Amino acid sequence: MSESSAPKHSIPFETATKKLLQMMIHSVYTKKEIFLRELISNASDAIDKRYGTALEHPDGSYGPLTRESYAIRLSLNKDKRLLSVSDNGIGMNAEDLKKYLGTIAFSGSGEFRENAAEKDAAELIGHFGIGFYSLFMVADRVSVVSRKAGENQAYIFQSDGDEAYSISPGTRKTVGTDVILHIREEKDVEKDTYDRYLRPYTLYKLVKEYSDYVRWPILLYMPTLAPDEKGEPSEKWGWEQLNSMTPLWKRSAGEVKDEEYEAFFHEQFGKKLDVHAGKKETFRKPLKVLPGHADGKVRMDYILYIPSVSWNSFDTNDDHPGIQLYSAGVKIMDVCEKLLPEEFAFVKGVADCPDLPLNISRETVQSEGVLKSMREVLTRRIQRALEDAMKNDRERYEKFWEDFGKTILVEALDEDNPHHEKLRDIVLFESGSEEIRKTSLEEYISRMKPEQKAIYYAKGKSREEIAKLPEIERPKALGVEYLCFVDQAESLVPEIMESYRDHPFISLTDGEPEPFLRKNAGTSDADTEEFLAFMKETLKGDADDVIASNRLESHPVILSSGDGITFAMEEGLRKMNPELHAKAKKVLEVNLEHPAVRKIKEIRKTEPAKAEKYARILFNQARLIAGIGIEDPSAYTDLVLSLWTE
Ligand code: ADP
Repeated sequence: MSESSAPKHSIPFETATKKLLQMMIHSVYTKKEIFLRELISNASDAIDKRYGTALEHPDGSYGPLTRESYAIRLSLNKDKRLLSVSDNGIGMNAEDLKKYLGTIAFSGSGEFRENAAEKDAAELIGHFGIGFYSLFMVADRVSVVSRKAGENQAYIFQSDGDEAYSISPGTRKTVGTDVILHIREEKDVEKDTYDRYLRPYTLYKLVKEYSDYVRWPILLYMPTLAPDEKGEPSEKWGWEQLNSMTPLWKRSAGEVKDEEYEAFFHEQFGKKLDVHAGKKETFRKPLKVLPGHADGKVRMDYILYIPSVSWNSFDTNDDHPGIQLYSAGVKIMDVCEKLLPEEFAFVKGVADCPDLPLNISRETVQSEGVLKSMREVLTRRIQRALEDAMKNDRERYEKFWEDFGKTILVEALDEDNPHHEKLRDIVLFESGSEEIRKTSLEEYISRMKPEQKAIYYAKGKSREEIAKLPEIERPKALGVEYLCFVDQAESLVPEIMESYRDHPFISLTDGEPEPFLRKNAGTSDADTEEFLAFMKETLKGDADDVIASNRLESHPVILSSGDGITFAMEEGLRKMNPELHAKAKKVLEVNLEHPAVRKIKEIRKTEPAKAEKYARILFNQARLIAGIGIEDPSAYTDLVLSLWTE
């Protein structure tokens, strides 16, 4: 590289470019360091172009035909405060320099012009890709020495980011480009000083952070310790490669070992698990590792990890949903939320799509389509993996479900979620059956009785509580399985889903039981009819009806609400608006074979006052069992006490 002494023609920048440059110079944007990523990415693209064209000219006239001949070289001159990024890519001639570097060349420049007026710099820098000009965040001068492939004359572009730039003839022995930055001297208000960009270690770190998977070697001229002739360690200067080039996700799945995937997962996402989970292996091992390559509507290489436990269980609040986004090996975003649907927000990973511009940011409309296609591919892949884990890795899936099930269930119930139907296939519910415990809806259906049409369920605080409900006795005796809906989301399932694969959800505690769940109540006789009439009369104003139950085994009574408003709905409505006087119907079902009921039937003629008391007590107990409490506890207490005080 050489700086020419040829006359320079000063060319003024366009107004919009000037504005952008001013923003860069005065920028307080905290991520100034991304300038290096931008320059390396330009260099890498330039090499791509040259290598691609070289392959079309097998005589080597355009450039070397071997990949090994290409590289991006970084070098530092601390005393002169110079940092240069050189490549042996396609190069630029005078015309190119003017066209590409003399004007805003980044995509979306029109939009930029419109926005520049009203937005502040940091926001704009975050919003648009900034490419070449970003170097002015850290440099106060730049020289670009470039020689285009197929041409002999080199040119120098120079600018201090002010009013104008110049282009003059120069010399460069070989084809390619040197971007030479003069690093600013003043202090950075936000961080440290600009001096850090003159340290090899900073460059190493920045390359690792943003450009590790750039597909050409990034070399830095730096000192390393190597044994000299006497075997003593001594400092030697040489070109060291900083980037590891081939990312794990670019390699074909067959050639990567499980341990490599797991190490990557741990390295990238799981470090804090060590802190919080005491390095337990089980926590580190994800439920599923999903490497993949897409080549259809969207091109993409990815690795997804479905964790086995939630980060949140360790009280960390630094976990942001999203996966890392790369564009052809260059990291664009650390967490891109848009790549994951809400239901799978817990998934970690990396996706690399060569069709994305580097300047993509949250608001970049032009990339929406690509991101959406990527999300669809990833969503399908995760769904399939979870279906598989549910069938073939059941124990771990159930464990996984404890941590992440809620997220999935909530989305399965959200009809605005385009995948809600599919999500219902991977939901697990608690089965009332001791042996089964957790079941999917499909599994439940496969175990249904031949005469059973519906999916039965009961709501309650826990499976144990539900098991004690009198309504459960009959299904249990018949060996009919039911689901336990124990939390808020689950209790919404019947109302929202209504049915699954044409099987309606039917509650065992509300409304009339299905015919096959009923007992044959036998033919009613006159005495029974009279007894029921007596009960109805006694409980007038409290019970809307009293009937002979056809579903009780050992319990004396049960309170049901018929087909209208349920007790839970009554409670909810009352809380919402007491004025409404919402009222569920209260039907007292009595078990005619139960001794307590038989007793009332027996004494109702001889001791009617006592029979009435018993009837009232029984009704209140039915209220207690139904979970709706007693309306007047002190009256009830008096009633019970009167049994032995009168
Ligand atoms: P972008 O890369 O988003 O197009 P930049 O401002 O970074 O925007 O670069 C503008 C253009 O300048 C590039 O598209 C490319 O044509 C040219 N360019 C930049 N750096 C180099 C380089 N090292 N070698 C060849 N061309 C380059």
